[in-house]
Amino acid sequence: MYAVRDTSHGVEKQICETCLRSRPRCFVCNMPLAGEHGKFKDGRLICQQDLAEAIFSNEDAQKVLEATQTELKRIFWEVLKFPETNVTFELVDRPDLNAAASMAPNFNGLQGLTVSRITTNLTIRGSVTNFHNTYNHRILTMFGMPRARLIAICAHEMTHTWLHEHLSANRKIEQDTIEAFCELVSHRVMQSINQPYEQEVIEANLYSRGQINVLLETDKRYPFTKIVEWMQHGTESRLTDENLHQILAIQTNTEGNSANGVPFKIVYSNRLQLKGITGGNRKLALINNKTLEQGERGNVIVGETNILVKVESIEAGSVTVVLPDGSKEILKLNR
Ligand SMILES: [Zn+2]
Ligand SMILES: [Zn+2]
Repeated sequence: MYAVRDTSHGVEKQICETCLRSRPRCFVCNMPLAGEHGKFKDGRLICQQDLAEAIFSNEDAQKVLEATQTELKRIFWEVLKFPETNVTFELVDRPDLNAAASMAPNFNGLQGLTVSRITTNLTIRGSVTNFHNTYNHRILTMFGMPRARLIAICAHEMTHTWLHEHLSANRKIEQDTIEAFCELVSHRVMQSINQPYEQEVIEANLYSRGQINVLLETDKRYPFTKIVEWMQHGTESRLTDENLHQILAIQTNTEGNSANGVPFKIVYSNRLQLKGITGGNRKLALINNKTLEQGERGNVIVGETNILVKVESIEAGSVTVVLPDGSKEILKLNR
């Protein structure tokens, strides 16, 4: 007999070697199934214990989404602003989930998926042109999972929605680290709602091919805000055990001194980008999302917030702006 840890239910079970090797397993807790168990029409098998907690309707899934959003807001309100009304949480069967991700129908490594649609709207008011992105996110996962697992998946996918809305196109992060960041947020949620076994599941799964452990370690050593800053503005595409201090290397407009982990003070101006200047009698400067003329004041979107900027002067190839604290910055056109 072997003592096997059943991570989903937090108990040790005695299982003989034959059972361990030959029995089919529950798709939720991965324990060998003996005796009564459930079978879904897409072939997934589930133990009685998980079946008792399983959620099947989109109505119940919507409640899970709302509970997850509440928890995310409570834990991360200072650092991450998650989408609220532009998200849906839908339960499908395994083949449909896999199809949405272009995977083989019987692939069993996928638990959830986020499909985000971005629409860019252009509004022109007088001489001011605004670009505004709107997002719509569909989170898909499988029916028949217990509530705690659904919350864990929902938190993971909600983190993808945040990344879709807040990572600029220039920020390159390798996929394992993206997945690990989503797992870290989910891990925090599981800790907060007291689901230690779901935390263990996250630590042990192969979703991020081990990157989750690097991020959990980073989370112990640095404030969470640093991890978020790194995700948005870091200089490296991957964190490793050896270069955890890279978490402090943040892109700035200053060249050359961001490579060796020197902590930087993040200032607004580093996130203001002059994207274009139009000439003629009436010069206009495009700063981030906003077009402003000389002397004009306007709110410019920076990350999750926006700041009031005044364009003091527009020169050839550069613009002088006044920031909310009265300081001035010269923004140069990137060529
Ligand atoms: Zn189970
Ligand atoms: Zn993911």
